[in-house]
Order: sequence, then structure tokens, then C-alpha cells
Amino acid sequence: VGRVLDKIGMKAQDTSELFFDDVRVGADALLGGVEGQGFFQLMSDLPYERTIIGLSALATMEGAYQATLDYVRDRKAFGKPIAEFQNTRFKLAEIATQIKVGRAFIDRCVEDLVAGRLDTATASMAKLWGSEAQGRVVDECLQLFGGYGFMNEYMVARMYADARVQRIYGGTNEIMKEVISRAL
Ligand SMILES: Cc1cc2nc3c(=O)[nH]c(=O)nc-3n(C[C@H](O)[C@H](O)[C@H](O)COP(=O)(O)OP(=O)(O)OC[C@H]3O[C@@H](n4cnc5c(N)ncnc54)[C@H](O)[C@@H]3O)c2cc1C
Repeated sequence: VGRVLDKIGMKAQDTSELFFDDVRVGADALLGGVEGQGFFQLMSDLPYERTIIGLSALATMEGAYQATLDYVRDRKAFGKPIAEFQNTRFKLAEIATQIKVGRAFIDRCVEDLVAGRLDTATASMAKLWGSEAQGRVVDECLQLFGGYGFMNEYMVARMYADARVQRIYGGTNEIMKEVISRAL
């Protein structure tokens, strides 16, 4: 096991490289049941992984939205809660709309996944849309925290750092677009 890599976010999760040098694996250690099908077996789990990324993106947006709502109702500037400024209300209205629309789509993906009928392109859309929306929403939430939003002691700051990798792992979003475009 290599060293624990120093990431910009997701600090609670350790990430390391694993090296397999001069390893001999016995036939009784075969995973997945059918020899020579490893890549296909891995591929068949990708819709699951992509849906989970879309779902966690949505859950993060919902959490960031709730934390922001609480904060802007409490924080005062120019003699009133910042929740009363039109910009704050409009930003939150946009965020709430993205969450509501996203929830309908992601819940549908979860239903289809459980029923065994979720196709790869739709799962890739969940990952692509979810992670892009998460990046936008968490960034806008952080802005409403002002300077506190840049401090790691605030959850929204950690959410911002954690969000970035969602567009990278599980297959980058560029690869998601490749997969989706091939199914058009
Ligand atoms: C925190 C973290 C956890 C991870 N966990 C796991 C894990 O548990 N299991 C695992 O297997 N992997 C894991 N990964 C690896 C992750 O899946 C890869 O980093 C990711 O798929 C991108 O591959 P790459 O890093 O080789 O980037 P590259 O493939 O080198 O991509 C670099 C850039 O080129 C672009 N690019 C590459 N090919 C194309 C193309 N055909 N068309 C257009 N653009 C392209 C990419 O989109 C990207 O912008 C993890 C990574 C991180 C950061």
C-alpha cells in the first residue's frame, strides 16, 4: 500500500495506490465466477456507481442549501438579515429549483436501477448533471457565507473542496459525455 495521498478535499476518506508486484493469485480466488469476464463484470456495475455519485451530489446540494438558508436568516448586514436581499432570495430560489428538478430525475434513476432497467447513458447523465450542478450550487452557497465560507470550520467550505472530485472520479465528465453521445 502506497502512502495516503494528500487531497484537497474528502479528507475523511483515505486514498492510496495499491501495488501488486510478483503476486500469484490462485484459481480458487477467482472473483465474479466466470474467468476472462472481469472487465465486463466491472462494466456492469458502472450504472450503479454513476447513480450513487449523482445521488450523493444531490444530497450534498440539499445539505448545502439547508445550511445556507439557516445562515442567511441569521447573519445581518446593513441592519437586516442577508436573507432579505433580493440577490440572496433569487439565488436560493434558483438553487431550490435545481434541487427539486434534480430530485425527480435522480429518484427516477434509483427506481430504474433497483428494477434493473437503468441504462448506462442515463446513469452517466445522473453523474454528469449531478456533479456539475453540485459544483455550481455549492459555489453559490459558499458565496452567501461571505468570508466564513472560505474557512474550513464551516461545512460549506469543506463541501466546496469535496465537490471538485465528483466531476473527475467514477469516469470524468468528459467520458460521461462520450458515453451519452454514443447512445444518441
Ligand atoms: C479521490 C479519488 C478517488 C478515486 N477512487 C478510485 C477508485 O476507488 N477506483 C478507481 O478505479 N479509480 C479511482 N479514482 C481514479 C479516477 O477514477 C480517475 O482519476 C478518473 O477516472 C480519471 O482518470 P485519470 O486520472 O487517469 O485522468 P485522465 O484519463 O488522464 O484524464 C485527464 C483529462 O483528460 C480528459 N480525457 C481523457 N480521455 C478523454 C477522452 N477520450 N475524451 C475527452 N477527454 C478525455 C479527462 O476528461 C481529463 O479531463 C479515484 C480518483 C480520485 C481523485
